[in-house]
Amino acid sequence: MAGNSVPQSALVIVAHPDDAEFTMAGTVAAWTRAGCQVTYVLCTDGNAGSHEPGMTKEWLAEIRRAEQRAACATLGVGDVVFLGYDDGQLQPNLELRRELVRLIRTYKPEVVLTSDPTRMFSGNGYINHPDHRAAGQAALDAVAPAAEMPLLWPEVGKAHKVQQVYVYGNDEANVWVDVSGTIEQKIAALKQHASQMGDWDPTERIKDWSAEAGAEKGLAHAEKFRVIHLVKPDGED
Ligand SMILES: [Zn+2]
Repeated sequence: MAGNSVPQSALVIVAHPDDAEFTMAGTVAAWTRAGCQVTYVLCTDGNAGSHEPGMTKEWLAEIRRAEQRAACATLGVGDVVFLGYDDGQLQPNLELRRELVRLIRTYKPEVVLTSDPTRMFSGNGYINHPDHRAAGQAALDAVAPAAEMPLLWPEVGKAHKVQQVYVYGNDEANVWVDVSGTIEQKIAALKQHASQMGDWDPTERIKDWSAEAGAEKGLAHAEKFRVIHLVKPDGED
């Protein structure tokens, strides 16, 4: 299936350090292993994500950037960009959209991966973080049509058309990526975010999620996405 083939290049756009490791890092690891050039964009530094007495936002931002770089090294991700917005206050505004257009035009990714901006809650026990929705919305707004419009913000680079967008967390998945060979790498990358783990070992939770997604397609472990094709695969209308 065309949606499940490995792209040459991909840009991951998420709100916080650890967001991609919780969700799509098995796919990232599978793709980098196959030669895909992956770049991460972190909209915030996750600098409010601590209850530790004496912690400051500046110090936490430094810790979390270092943890994200270590996670990316574990996954074979070549480049990490931190936009430096404050955790808990991300807005899908024109300023963020323009920043993301600049990065899309700079890195020229074939695929963009991001979170579902329409997910407000899951089940009966979880309200999605507004930063996750904001990052997803800004990413989609930047991809189409902004990044490909030559007359819009020409000062941030030459227009670029992204071919596919992988949206994580949507109920209507249409692509299941087999992450059976990279699930341990995903967990190792997630554990790099030590400031967020405390004494908790994420192994079981992560394996439960990917086993559940995999079972839908006869795979040991999978990550599922809603994939939007902005450039149709060959032979399709
Ligand atoms: Zn998050």
